[in-house]
Amino acid sequence: MRQFELRRASSIEDAVLLGASSPTAQQGAAVRYLAGGTTLLDLMKLDIEHPAHVVQIGHLGLDRIEAAPDGGLSIGATVRNSDLAHDERVRHGYAVLSEALLSGASGQLRNMATTAGNLLQRTRCVYFRDTAMACNKREPGSGCDAMDGFNRNLALLGTSEHCIASNPSDMNVALVVLDARIHIAGLHGGRQVTIANFHLLPRDTPHIETPLVPGDLVTHVTLPPLAEGTRTGYLKLRDRASYEFALASCAVLLRVSGGIVEQVRIGLGGVATRPWRAVVSEHMLAGQPLTLANVEAAAAAALRDARPREGNAFKIELARRCIVQAIRNVAGEALQ
Ligand SMILES: Cc1cc2nc3c(=O)[nH]c(=O)nc-3n(C[C@H](O)[C@H](O)[C@H](O)COP(=O)(O)OP(=O)(O)OC[C@H]3O[C@@H](n4cnc5c(N)ncnc54)[C@H](O)[C@@H]3O)c2cc1C
Ligand code: SF4
Repeated sequence: MRQFELRRASSIEDAVLLGASSPTAQQGAAVRYLAGGTTLLDLMKLDIEHPAHVVQIGHLGLDRIEAAPDGGLSIGATVRNSDLAHDERVRHGYAVLSEALLSGASGQLRNMATTAGNLLQRTRCVYFRDTAMACNKREPGSGCDAMDGFNRNLALLGTSEHCIASNPSDMNVALVVLDARIHIAGLHGGRQVTIANFHLLPRDTPHIETPLVPGDLVTHVTLPPLAEGTRTGYLKLRDRASYEFALASCAVLLRVSGGIVEQVRIGLGGVATRPWRAVVSEHMLAGQPLTLANVEAAAAAALRDARPREGNAFKIELARRCIVQAIRNVAGEALQ
């Protein structure tokens, strides 16, 4: 690991100022905030990240889960994944988030990992994490060894000719169906970004993953309240039952009345370059009777634009089945 200077921010404003001295907040940042360190320190040891300054933020009071003024929930950036998953308001009001968090990593990792760190975790593409390999995300313009290499855990949706890396987070898939907002403190004050606009498609700049600019510090995430009768859930399919990233996962938010779908949101993980909303499927189901035939047709439509590579084509069928089963689990007897 290269040498770096560890700084302890004295306040949120100080953290922002320290961060702003980096030329970029994306790949190659010279300043990185240290949360749980479970992604950052690994990448520093592998020489994928080599910040000259690492800024501690864990003591800045961003570790609270509070009721939001609109009746929703506000989750601090440094709330640990374990604390969030076990919070009663999350378990009962936003089950999909609790289930997604508990399906991720291991108990020890969840005790360290934080909300913002999870939001900003980097891809598990093996070529990204190996400096001997060509990777446009790590080294813009160097190529992509994953295209014709080991890509069974990589993306089918939202890919580009420059990068097919999947977003590995379970939590992010839950956040897309919950319509989360990301709150950011920056050099020019605070701002909010919707989760749908927080993770960018790779296009021809896979090294630019978010709209964050130097000095931007994620302070908290808010979840709007859910309408009465809304059910949510998360299903994750993977190579082993724990301590493994998703091959395909599905988050569902569903409200059914009199057999008709009043509201539905479907999020996909493990198969897309960013936490993915299956918007076409949602449109097919909304306002229609919740029947297995309708669900199966909607699930197939979610993968219509998939662009598989040799090693990951099997995930089209896997993801389709994952969507159907996730909706069945959440719908229960409401499925006709
Ligand atoms: C073996 C292993 C298995 C795993 N399995 C899973 C899994 O199955 N599912 C899953 O979803 N995840 C999994 N993970 C990933 C894990 O969830 C992430 O490593 C963790 O959530 C990152 O959180 P952290 O607080 O440790 O982030 P850190 O490593 O501290 O930070 C990650 C990034 O976020 C930036 N950052 C942190 N906080 C802020 C902030 N407030 N503002 C701006 N930038 C910030 C950091 O600078 C860094 O770039 C696994 C990890 C490991 C090591
Ligand atoms: S898929 Fe993306 S992260 Fe993986 S090697 Fe290609 S450019 Fe790099």
